[in-house]
Amino acid sequence: MTQPELSETAHDLARQVLIHGPISRGELGRRLGLSPASLTRLSKPFLDRGLFVEASDVVQGATGRPAKPLDVHVDAARVIGVKLSGDAAFGVLTDLRAGALAQGVQSLGDHDVASVVDAVARLVDELRPAGGELAGVGVSIGGNVADQRTVTRAPFLEWRDVPLADLLEERLGVPVDVENDVTALTTAEQWFGPARAEESFAVVTVGAGVGYGLVMHDRVVTTPDTGLGLGGHLPLDPSGPRCMDGHPGCSTAMLSIPSIRAQVGIALGREVDYDEVLALAASGQPSARAVTDAAGRALGRMMGLIANLTMVDAIVLSGEGVRLWDVAGEAATAVLTADRDPEAAPVVVHVDGAGFDSWARGAAAVAIQGGLARFRFPAA
Ligand SMILES: [Zn+2]
Repeated sequence: MTQPELSETAHDLARQVLIHGPISRGELGRRLGLSPASLTRLSKPFLDRGLFVEASDVVQGATGRPAKPLDVHVDAARVIGVKLSGDAAFGVLTDLRAGALAQGVQSLGDHDVASVVDAVARLVDELRPAGGELAGVGVSIGGNVADQRTVTRAPFLEWRDVPLADLLEERLGVPVDVENDVTALTTAEQWFGPARAEESFAVVTVGAGVGYGLVMHDRVVTTPDTGLGLGGHLPLDPSGPRCMDGHPGCSTAMLSIPSIRAQVGIALGREVDYDEVLALAASGQPSARAVTDAAGRALGRMMGLIANLTMVDAIVLSGEGVRLWDVAGEAATAVLTADRDPEAAPVVVHVDGAGFDSWARGAAAVAIQGGLARFRFPAA
């Protein structure tokens, strides 16, 4: 059977129910500008196919009519998200709200395209639901991706112009979507994260590097340069250490895990891992504390710049280094507040505690988004 194309309105309806469900028909009608009759007509194919369910009746207001809010049947299909780093492929099997059901990792032998495709295939085989349909695979990667198909540039893998989606679809026999890792993570935050109720918000990822994503009027903002990670080298502290590109006190130099570890390591005269840095800072050890306090002030400055210039008042902090907030949140908030007009709406910081898992979850969100756009759910 050929899959019918979804109209833009039907796609918006599915997206709203996925992000905000259970949601009342009245609220959906208001959000989409649809009459009750149109809403009933557009919802029917989703209900018939089992993608939507009617949540238990809630009697609404004075009319006493049952409201039958709509929700997505999250178990209607499964997807796998894969985050590729320079060393390994990290995977997660999820439901339709990117809720993790199983996780796995395969190391990359080398950076040959064939070896990486092999590693992803092994990971997908390991995570594939037993006897169940897999609706799609999303892959996220640091670098530039064209049309969610071709990796045009991936410095960690030293790749140029690799048709990764085609290669993986041929190998796996399921639809594959590929996306820049920060864009994928931002999509997951927009659909399933703590700020999903917001129409506009920014995302800052702290980890191996520093990433910046923006959701504006319900759309993830991307440009052909998104994959360059331009938010990673914002000047934040002229007296800070230099990044590998030589910028003094840029976001990577101030906030990335390798730079924080290196600064504390130099002060202590030995290697320290990130967990230990955070534990030392929490216990008040002076050299660790000095580094995380400076990181906090830089993070506050970065958040203030983002909020004041892009006019968002919600910021999601995510990525594998997100626990920096536990020790540096106070310093960050002080600078953020000082850099903001007291009459402006205060900036709300949402911390996504998923840490490293948020990356693979982002890749799963790309698969969910792709599946929804092509009406692949549920696998009939
Ligand atoms: Zn830099």
